[in-house]
Amino acid sequence: MPAHAVYGTYSDGLSARAHPVTLVLEDSLEITGQDLRLAWTLADLAAGDTAAPLMRVGPAGRAERVEFTDEALAAALKDRCPDLYRSDPSASGGRLRLVLWSIAAGISVIGLAIYGVPAIAVRLAPVVPAAIEARLGGAVDGQIGKILGDPPVCNDAPARAVLDRLIERMTANGGLPVDPAITVRRHAIANALTLPGGRVVVLSDLIDQSRTPDEFAGVLAHEFGHVAARDPMRALLAASGSSFLLSLVLGDLTGSTILVAVGQAAISAGYSREAENAADTYSVEVMSRSGGDATALATILERIAKDDEKAEFASLLRSHPFTKERANRIRAMAGTETVGRRILDETEWATLKGICRNVPAKTAK
Ligand SMILES: [Zn+2]
Repeated sequence: MPAHAVYGTYSDGLSARAHPVTLVLEDSLEITGQDLRLAWTLADLAAGDTAAPLMRVGPAGRAERVEFTDEALAAALKDRCPDLYRSDPSASGGRLRLVLWSIAAGISVIGLAIYGVPAIAVRLAPVVPAAIEARLGGAVDGQIGKILGDPPVCNDAPARAVLDRLIERMTANGGLPVDPAITVRRHAIANALTLPGGRVVVLSDLIDQSRTPDEFAGVLAHEFGHVAARDPMRALLAASGSSFLLSLVLGDLTGSTILVAVGQAAISAGYSREAENAADTYSVEVMSRSGGDATALATILERIAKDDEKAEFASLLRSHPFTKERANRIRAMAGTETVGRRILDETEWATLKGICRNVPAKTAK
């Protein structure tokens, strides 16, 4: 068949934006648009569930895709892409996987019927092996980096030393299922995100917005509360439900479309009020014990809430829903005896504030 160009749209699967492209079927599916040139291997292509004449195809396991309505191209792809409608897992992984898949599907269907997905997710989170959780954390970390536009890592050495000592003091009492790993990334949004496997991503504007070291440490301690409760793992299980179990048994974790969704959810979807309250309680305990001001968490949350009532995508308030009631609760628990204490001295705090010194300012978003 002579190659002819077909008009369609391309989406990266992360943003809602669709780019106009032309599609040409040669040895691969060639996609050309403004600043875009892709060639997708035919054997990798999978088709989405759409009503003809609309057709949606993309590389299996990835979020990006193209859509078009040209019937000749649709027919040609059906002829030439062997796995376009692959749904039988035994085709790619043999009998064992099929059996595991059936068991997982069975469990998740039972779970759905009896508890609903979030409930079974809560039950499953503690039994997910640490090694798998760590792997997931790494994958989600990568996704979040991509969603935020790969903000550079801030690791000015003296600042990092101050931060590491602070973390050590705050976690000295144990109580966390894993040692938390904190990464600071330069970004103009104030937020801190806890990922599976004890990973915490701090966006540098949180440090800039903190007027005292205790405000920053209070938020960090709140994140440790989420680590302690394994909330990210619960959220991940709840967000992906049975499809997560499916990808787990199929061995396809990294680069799966589920991770894209989970990365988005980690940034913009909040935890439940109960989970937030528990993390606040944790923060108050850690701050009181570590010589900090346990009320500072309420102070910074209130200030950010005032500045940022629109609660834009990726803000601290979106991922940790905030209410006046939360601030009152924090203050009531903390009492007055820690008010005005400082968890770092002036010099240490000034050093920590320079943690992004190693990153050129122009890359700031
Ligand atoms: Zn939270």
